[in-house]
Amino acid sequence: MRKYLLFILLVSAAAGLRAQAPAYGGKLKPEQVNMDIRHYTIDLALNIPDRSLSGYAIADVRLKEPASVLLLDLMDSFAVAAVTVNGRVAGFTHDHHELRITGSWQAGQAAVKVVYSGRPMIAKRPPWDDGFTFTKDSTGHPWVAVTAEGTGGKLYFPCKDHPSDEPDEGVDLTIRVPAGLVVAGPGLLVDNKKGVYHWRTTYPINNYSIVFNVGDYAVVSRDYVTVSGHKVPMQFYVLKEHQDRAAHQLDMLAHMAQIKEKYFGEYPWVKEKIGLVETPHLGMEHQTMNAYGNKFRYTAIGGQDFDGLMNHEFGHEWWGNKVTAGDWADYWIHEGIGTFGDALYTLDMEGEAAYEKIFQRDVPRIRNNKPIVLGKDIAEEDAYHPDIYPKGAFFMHTLRYILGDSIFFPTLKHLSTDSNTTYANTTSTEDVQRLFSGAAGRDLSPLFHLFLYTTDKLEVGVRLQDSTHWQVKLLNIDMSLPMEVMTSGGTSTKVLDKKEWLWSAKRCR
Ligand SMILES: [Zn+2]
Repeated sequence: MRKYLLFILLVSAAAGLRAQAPAYGGKLKPEQVNMDIRHYTIDLALNIPDRSLSGYAIADVRLKEPASVLLLDLMDSFAVAAVTVNGRVAGFTHDHHELRITGSWQAGQAAVKVVYSGRPMIAKRPPWDDGFTFTKDSTGHPWVAVTAEGTGGKLYFPCKDHPSDEPDEGVDLTIRVPAGLVVAGPGLLVDNKKGVYHWRTTYPINNYSIVFNVGDYAVVSRDYVTVSGHKVPMQFYVLKEHQDRAAHQLDMLAHMAQIKEKYFGEYPWVKEKIGLVETPHLGMEHQTMNAYGNKFRYTAIGGQDFDGLMNHEFGHEWWGNKVTAGDWADYWIHEGIGTFGDALYTLDMEGEAAYEKIFQRDVPRIRNNKPIVLGKDIAEEDAYHPDIYPKGAFFMHTLRYILGDSIFFPTLKHLSTDSNTTYANTTSTEDVQRLFSGAAGRDLSPLFHLFLYTTDKLEVGVRLQDSTHWQVKLLNIDMSLPMEVMTSGGTSTKVLDKKEWLWSAKRCR
């Protein structure tokens, strides 16, 4: 009973926290359909004792049609002092976490500059909820982290906060901190003088990766040569107190990169860097600057140190950052394919039996109390469900079995390298289904439907044919599937379907 009460209290507390943050994603707001985000410029001074920010942001937008309203999302905890559009002062209102700018604009480019200041939401339980974390490392230096996966960029800058629209030309992010502190951010460091850190990425980037970390960091670097021969810097922004751990961490990360490149293609951000930053929270897949807070805790795979959390977050450089679901409804593409990718490390290092053990361990943990794709236009908080990890991964494992490695792995790599499903082009469950069906040469939609859109499990009927033989068939899927059948005579693979009792096995005595 006590446990149950504690559970209810925790759930209520979590619900209370969630109510604090406005939705990220969901149905695209009508005013934002007309707006194609090209670029963000963010320039903010961070006042650590006051836990506040002040400065400006510019959203470069392409208007598809003439507009009388430009709508950006920005949390109400900030006060907007002024808005200009293409250099002219514009009227605005700011409430319900929406900055509504009114005027009259032609189709084409619009540079929306917002001058603002205020205190960002504080994270209560990062990375599971969002906000800023202001803490100190063990030597007493300030340590600041930002997590925004459930809230989006509106946590601290005005933006079109929807996963379907990434800034095609990237982001310029300048953060001003007291001299002596170091700011880690996405892309390349363009300039850093006297506590002014200017980071720039020229790649498309999801809003929740447009974040920064501040700390008493040392930068430990080495080079990585990609599968296509590009030399990419690896940089670990590590607390000075843990500097001696960094080289080993980067060696492990390089090994992970090699295995991921084998299955998913070249590391996606070769013009910039492979980045890692030590954070007070566990981790988060921030593009080119992955958050790392696993405290250098390792297990062993293949007789070598293995950091599972780092492996998982790094996999998101392909699944989530390069291949991005345009609707959070298809979140399983990030977490399910990502988690499947985690298991490929074991496959490579320890072989098939060790890889299968991962699914034997994880499949019983699937709750299966709701489908992992819940429809269309779903916000992040509503789409997030623990099953998107193990059930999504198990689905990919099932696809691998059905298609066979010679079809499955090239198709998976196709998904993560095709320009139609990567970078500025978002993807969907339907895209994944089409791609794998095309590669298989048959319609896989019944399989996608069963695993992703229902909580049904594949049912296999077994009956006695006569006194000496068993028969089996599939009961609830309209397609044929290969299945391993184990009898006293051994294990064999048979193709079963729903239409008839196709196969008979000798009954054991
Ligand atoms: Zn993840």
